[in-house]
Amino acid sequence: MNTTLEPIKISDSEWEVMRVIWTLDAATAQEISEILSESMDWKPATIKTLLGRLVKKEIVWTEQSGKKFIYHPLVSEESTVRSATENLFSHICATKVGQTIADLVSEATLTKEDIQLILDELDKKEPVEAISCNCIPGQCNCTHHQ
Ligand SMILES: [Zn+2]
Repeated sequence: MNTTLEPIKISDSEWEVMRVIWTLDAATAQEISEILSESMDWKPATIKTLLGRLVKKEIVWTEQSGKKFIYHPLVSEESTVRSATENLFSHICATKVGQTIADLVSEATLTKEDIQLILDELDKKEPVEAISCNCIPGQCNCTHHQ
């Protein structure tokens, strides 16, 4: 598993393939095609192209078994999701993170257990006095410079 802090960058299509590999833990191109060909309307050649990219990016590794190649994950689903979230938050002003999280909570469909999980995290949170804007001047409307 990838334990470095390197951001994991995969496309939406590559992500669909990864979800199958994460679920099966070891999958052939044929197995992936069977699962995705109908729902995504992808041809086997498309799957093979996506798998080639994922191998090149070192997100999966492959071994040959007879005539088939078996694909295994090199990064976990959890770290990929975390990386995507960190990437999203890196694009917004540090002062807008709280509002963005509130919006995410507001739009999410949550169970009682989910809500408790979020409340527990909030309980543990140590607030800071103020957050300074980390933006390049001209990239946000922060008025704290006044
Ligand atoms: Zn800012």
